[in-house]
Amino acid sequence: MKLLTVGSVAFDAIETPFGKTDKIVGGAGTYICFSAAFFLKEQGIISVVGEDFPSETLQELKEKGVNLDGLQIIQGGKTFFWSGKYHNDMNSRDTLATELNVLGTFDPIVPENYQDVDYLLLGNLSPEVQRTVIERLVKRPKLIAMDTMNFWMDIALEELKKTIKLVDVIIINDEEARQLSGTYSLVKAASIIQAMGPQIVIIKKGEHGALLFHGEKIFYAPALPLEEVFDPTGAGDTFAGGFMGYIASTDDFSFENMKSAIIAGSALASFCVEKFGTNRLKEITTTELNNRIARFVELSHFQMKEI
Ligand code: AMP
Repeated sequence: MKLLTVGSVAFDAIETPFGKTDKIVGGAGTYICFSAAFFLKEQGIISVVGEDFPSETLQELKEKGVNLDGLQIIQGGKTFFWSGKYHNDMNSRDTLATELNVLGTFDPIVPENYQDVDYLLLGNLSPEVQRTVIERLVKRPKLIAMDTMNFWMDIALEELKKTIKLVDVIIINDEEARQLSGTYSLVKAASIIQAMGPQIVIIKKGEHGALLFHGEKIFYAPALPLEEVFDPTGAGDTFAGGFMGYIASTDDFSFENMKSAIIAGSALASFCVEKFGTNRLKEITTTELNNRIARFVELSHFQMKEI
């Protein structure tokens, strides 16, 4: 198996200045898998849902090549529920509810047929669960990437640091990088985080793109200037899924290839925000994706004569 993701499969209720949803399907793991599926015919997920989770979504994931042997369905259990409300600028949001439900007692079992996995993506979950999966893999994957959030820094910093030490890539946003490193400059923050373990630090800056720190080397990718952002939920997970899906499908984690992976992730994330939930992500065509990647190339390409 090329890529294994550990991440929440959830119900979300979202409020943005454009509208409001009741419970819709969300979860970091869901966004990651739909996104990585653009590059991979087969991938796996370790997660948990309750018996209230729609079988149609599980079927859609299967049709995209997601193996669900690692997805536990707890009879009588309720699926994780998260609710958030975005502010007018869409860059910040308030969490209105986090109901862990079946995620609260989640024991991530690694099925036998996942043991040969090449690339591992630890979605935003408790650092203990993330670390348990690393420990339960008999053979270390070629590359381990993780996402996390300020929530874990606030309540489980020491546990989080233990997990960070074990991974090769950390993908976080600018505020999280500042909180984790205790410094404002993102360049300094990246080097402090590198000293914690991961040699590759990716800092997402929302509508301002993403920075890649790869050892000593740095790359900056813009975000596509969009006229309208409808719902930013899952954009970070979509980015991570596209990034790791691209790396796993090319089996190359050199600096040069990581630049392309970042653009692939950014292009997919730019679609994700156009509609509520995973809706837009599920309908993107290869032509649309290629056209958007071409816009990224145009956006960041220029020639200049020597002065
Ligand atoms: P993002 O917008 O990239 O931060 O991801 C949003 C997704 O993360 C939503 O679909 C939520 O279901 C999921 N989520 C939010 N909080 C948590 C949490 N504490 N643990 C796991 N997943 C979460």
